[in-house]
Amino acid sequence: MSTITDISYAERARLLRSAPTAPVPENARGPQIPEAGYVIDEIADGVFWLSEGSYQSMFTVTDEGVIAMDAPPTLGNNILRAISRVTTKPVTHVIYSHHHSDHVGAMSIYPAEAPRYAQRFVAERLRLLDDPQRPLATVVFDDSVTIDAGDHSVQMDYPGPNHAEGNSFIHLPNQRVLMFVDVIFPGWVPFSNLSLSAFVPGVIRSHEQALNYDFDSFVGGHVTRPGTPEDVRVQQEYLADLRATAEAALSSVDLATTMSVIDTSNVWAVFRAYLDSAAAATTDAIVPRWKDRLGGADVFTLPNAWAMVESLRLDLNSLGPFATVP
Ligand SMILES: [Zn+2]
Repeated sequence: MSTITDISYAERARLLRSAPTAPVPENARGPQIPEAGYVIDEIADGVFWLSEGSYQSMFTVTDEGVIAMDAPPTLGNNILRAISRVTTKPVTHVIYSHHHSDHVGAMSIYPAEAPRYAQRFVAERLRLLDDPQRPLATVVFDDSVTIDAGDHSVQMDYPGPNHAEGNSFIHLPNQRVLMFVDVIFPGWVPFSNLSLSAFVPGVIRSHEQALNYDFDSFVGGHVTRPGTPEDVRVQQEYLADLRATAEAALSSVDLATTMSVIDTSNVWAVFRAYLDSAAAATTDAIVPRWKDRLGGADVFTLPNAWAMVESLRLDLNSLGPFATVP
């Protein structure tokens, strides 16, 4: 008898990948990327959004110079080319949203003498990682810091652990722009496993915290376009739906049926059967409700449901049939 282990993991992955995906909803589409390889858009007075179609960064031009936020390697030196298209002023301030190199792995393109702002957890991680592409922070804050540069003011606030420890809000109150990276994905469901987040309850809470700011434009660091407060509300609704559905699924898994086909001496197979059943039931309920509203709902809801199931169990003590303490 052949077993599933006769099928290579590469073949299993290929079968999953090659299944057709739902059409990308109109709401998930962004501007065409020009020949130059990136798009630049002035989303508010003197505030510029940059993207290559998947990653985003931002900069603002003040009386004194340029305040640059993040530097994804996929944009790299195109950030400097974009800046030089709109101003001859130098980069005078540099901001780290968080330490992940896919968003800040090209920070070394900025002038070494410009002060680099980061929350303390981010600064610590940069020190531990010791990566020349991510120069150390020179201005470190715990809760909040304000950069006053000429006619512009940029406020950074740390709302507590979320996607990553230290990941902070970046708010331009006069231009009504809010940047918050790897948490809210305008037009799309979050990246796989709830964007690999360090603390899912913090991710959920940060939607409310985002909506307490005054802003018209939102920059999430990812996907196809800038966003709006409405995008934050829509993703808040997706996460609330995912959470409620996963919570119900965790307690309603039919353990007898699920375990009847499992080698119960294999502890990991038992865990996988329970957790995968809950995540799959959640996904079957969520995808039909969301595939026309958010891009990639059919692609990443399963790993997102899995991450939600784990957070419900580990952070929120929602242990379903295993809640009884002997
Ligand atoms: Zn990240």
